[in-house]
Amino acid sequence: MKVKCKNRINISFESSEIILDPQIVNPTVSSMFVSHAHYDHLPRSKKKPSTIPPVVCSKATARLFQERIGYSLDFHDFWENNEYKLETVPGGHTFDSTVAKITNKENGDIVVYTGDVNIEDRAYLTGFKPFKCNVLILEATWGDKDYRFPTYEHQATLAREYIQKQLDQGNPVALLGYSVGKAQLLNYSFGDLCEKRYSTNAIWQMEQTHKELGLDLHSTKLLANDKMDIGLEKNKPWILFHNHTSARDKTLAFLKRKYNLKIIGFSGWAKNQEQYKYRMGADAAYVMSDHSDYGSLLEIIKQSSPEKIFTVFGKAAELARELQKEGFNAIPLTKGQSTLESFF
Ligand SMILES: [Zn+2]
Repeated sequence: MKVKCKNRINISFESSEIILDPQIVNPTVSSMFVSHAHYDHLPRSKKKPSTIPPVVCSKATARLFQERIGYSLDFHDFWENNEYKLETVPGGHTFDSTVAKITNKENGDIVVYTGDVNIEDRAYLTGFKPFKCNVLILEATWGDKDYRFPTYEHQATLAREYIQKQLDQGNPVALLGYSVGKAQLLNYSFGDLCEKRYSTNAIWQMEQTHKELGLDLHSTKLLANDKMDIGLEKNKPWILFHNHTSARDKTLAFLKRKYNLKIIGFSGWAKNQEQYKYRMGADAAYVMSDHSDYGSLLEIIKQSSPEKIFTVFGKAAELARELQKEGFNAIPLTKGQSTLESFF
């Protein structure tokens, strides 16, 4: 068995191959896995290939894949041949995101590919529960010692207080978050604070999709870009769920000028509070990430107790270096690299 970073992540066996979150849907492999529907984990091309290998992913990921990439996937809960079994477990990153568990049938070794992952239970999200494996392919978005975050519960409580205070003073608020993942979490966590709720187009579309998938979200009205203040009332506060863009965005700048809109950012980058607020032009910011922080990455390693760790994405090199210092057998998985360590 061999792991390499070629078509995002490839795992090859004697006579078959799995591609994990592939950039190119290669019809010649035996199966593929899609962890979730963020663009950096999806194929680059929106052109439907003539043949699609068997796909393992969750129902929500297949649906979001169809909306974002444009063609449907005939997906499976698991896939196996005589060399391996590919299954999913909850990943806790976004609604119904998953982690891949691959069992090598030859020797019983277990390989875990985290995709993007979060071990914390947050609102409707069940955190990833790490388990013993032999090889761990671990995302390293926050793989730097400086990125240790407070809990979701702690930050959500502070954010609720701030939002409520602004609404009480008659100020509308914009909650900034990516359209898939964060926007649903913000809607679910804070939507009850105000009856007048709006969303930008991408977020509104995703709200409808997630409702159809069974997620209990607060209903919002669509804020059309070209008629940005229709329906908004002066002196009556409202909540706007907005993409994660800076306050220099045309719509936000207009609404801030006209309605004294308070802009609130939610991101792991808010760990550097003042820098983040300045960059985003935000009035307030809360440290809320869909990824596990540094401490949680170490917790995943502790509970997985792997013999080998491959770090991927984000701070892969930094995390591998730190883990090596601690005596772990860890290397960053770099594109095109194929070393002896890739075999196991
Ligand atoms: Zn993601």
